[in-house]
Amino acid sequence: MAAFDHEQVVFCQDQATGLKSILAIHNTTLGPAVGGTRMWAYATEDEALTDVLRLSRGMTYKNALAGLNIGGGKAVVIGNARTDKNEALLRRFGRFVDSLGGKYITAEDVGMSTRDMELIRLETKHVVGLPDFMGGGGDPSPVTAYGVYMGMKASVRELTGSESLAGKRVLVQGVGHVGQYLVEHLVKEGAEVLVADIYEDRIREVASRFQVTYVKPDDVYTTAMDIYAPCALGATVNDDTLSMLTCSIICGAANNQLAREAEHGEAVRKKGILYAPDYLVNAGGIINCYWEIIGYNRQAAMSQAENIYQTTRAIFQKSAEENIPTYLAANRMAEARIASIAQLRTRR
Ligand code: NAD
Repeated sequence: MAAFDHEQVVFCQDQATGLKSILAIHNTTLGPAVGGTRMWAYATEDEALTDVLRLSRGMTYKNALAGLNIGGGKAVVIGNARTDKNEALLRRFGRFVDSLGGKYITAEDVGMSTRDMELIRLETKHVVGLPDFMGGGGDPSPVTAYGVYMGMKASVRELTGSESLAGKRVLVQGVGHVGQYLVEHLVKEGAEVLVADIYEDRIREVASRFQVTYVKPDDVYTTAMDIYAPCALGATVNDDTLSMLTCSIICGAANNQLAREAEHGEAVRKKGILYAPDYLVNAGGIINCYWEIIGYNRQAAMSQAENIYQTTRAIFQKSAEENIPTYLAANRMAEARIASIAQLRTRR
């Protein structure tokens, strides 16, 4: 991906702490760029650059489609989050974020925790994803799960005319932070819930609280189900799994579910599966961050996550009218919002 698609890409290398980080601001038409920081042991700096360019662009689309007044950005820290992370490095990273004067606001991503955000906060106020006691939003997972649940109801309504999930066979792949809250909504509504996870303790915990059926991780794609809810990994919708999946809806929290967006977005459509775009239905996490920026209110964050229902419906409508896959309808909707606000700025 060309960096010229982005507004600003900044590198930071600090010998004293060993910090090596890249921060990418993709688009600030709608507001300051917001997106998490990923700490990962990238094999090369090129790989880290490619990732931060891709992820920051993704945030522009996600934030725009969720109706938030923020742009897209992301940061990566090159290193092993288990062995290379320490207070000095995180605080140096905080100063790096601060040097942009609020044009970029950071949060957690893979390899970063709420505790890390607390340390970054010592050096910059441009950080969210803080714990409740610091005025933050705490764990965003319940908000994310609620948004996915809303997207799922809109999807069922599209196919059946009713938004009820009662009696629908839903397979939740991954019952971690988000998956467990999703299971709770589904069980409450009377869905038949199947769960898969690679960790037995996760399954045991969920099975002790809810009436669910366990599916082995390897059997997920061959299991009969109405709705497949990927809540673990990305790229699970690919050539191999599509030849096995028998669901009529895909709607889950995992990022980048389509292994190759254009190809698999079209393949899903041809197979007659309704795909609820992942970056829309899992926007609850960033919605939670957004409310932290403007003054945290969990009730307001939940109610904004509820809007995912209407946006999902609008995407299905656009997809049908223009005869395009749902991922493309979502992308075009996000681009249209950004373009319409951008042209405001050029007028007096
Ligand atoms: P998590 O790590 O808490 O949970 C993921 C669960 O998936 C774990 O229990 C893990 O054991 C399980 N898992 C991993 N590989 C699996 C496999 N092959 N088969 C079955 N289970 C498997 O993560 P989370 O915070 O619940 O997030 C889930 C997904 O949603 C991730 O892709 C994440 O990027 C995305 N997401 C999360 C949020 C949020 O608010 N937490 C927001 C947006 C997107």
